[in-house]
Amino acid sequence: MEIIVGKNAGFCFGVERAVEIIRKALKKINDDVYSLGPIIHNPQTNEMFEEMGLKMVDSIDEIEKGSLVIRSHGLEPEIIKTAESKGIRIIDATCPLVKKVQDYAELLYKEGYKLFILGDPLHPEIRAVAGFTDNSANVIENENDLKDNIRGCRKVGVVIQTTQILDNYKNVIYKLIKNCDEFRIYNTICDATHERQEETVELARKSDLIIIVGGKNSANTTRLKKVAESIGCVACHIESPDELEKNWFHSVKVVSIVGGASTPEWIVNDTVLRIKEFK
Ligand code: SF4
Repeated sequence: MEIIVGKNAGFCFGVERAVEIIRKALKKINDDVYSLGPIIHNPQTNEMFEEMGLKMVDSIDEIEKGSLVIRSHGLEPEIIKTAESKGIRIIDATCPLVKKVQDYAELLYKEGYKLFILGDPLHPEIRAVAGFTDNSANVIENENDLKDNIRGCRKVGVVIQTTQILDNYKNVIYKLIKNCDEFRIYNTICDATHERQEETVELARKSDLIIIVGGKNSANTTRLKKVAESIGCVACHIESPDELEKNWFHSVKVVSIVGGASTPEWIVNDTVLRIKEFK
């Protein structure tokens, strides 16, 4: 059985950067360090941070002092203001590409565009971006979300969640253009997502089985499974090598392994070692 490991398996640049910023902060700061929610969509990395002393809480109301880490997804400006008003120190690990989405959304909002954010309304990145428009933006997940909100728009602005696929929004963009006089869009989709998806397609074409490694709650990892399946390859999504089952590899000649943007390289390597044991 041939085992192929995707070149892009391992943390993306934004997650790698955030992990380093937080690791250094935890080593240096002798006071409580908090995050709002898990640092990344990877349970093993979150456990490592908790062991280093990071406290993960759900709300800013649970923090009275110390430092607050902003995850690579970013954070709503009103929450940052609340933290600062309590004297809480901010450690900003927002990915620079996510920051760009926030900046473009704020710019379009301030210039009077009716803003549409294309993405998942429940994702922390999108909740934070909407905050930079005083929560006035329309978050659009699919065509069904376009109803009365597109009528009578003169100036329309659009930004896109970093991990989205542009093709999924062709119809939404077409409808928006048809209903306005002026249309301005910033392509804020991140290359890390693209590259992983393109590589998954390429590997799925030459494999009997593709193993997707990464957090089950990671949107970009879950999407890799769908991408592989869409071209007819059998795909299994695991969070840890312990989930691998020997019978998956029965009569498999080529297996490929890819990881999401928040999957640490060591889990990918451990997955390879475990598969080799099955050979
Ligand atoms: S996927 Fe892209 S936007 Fe998201 S953290 Fe990684 S580099 Fe940044």
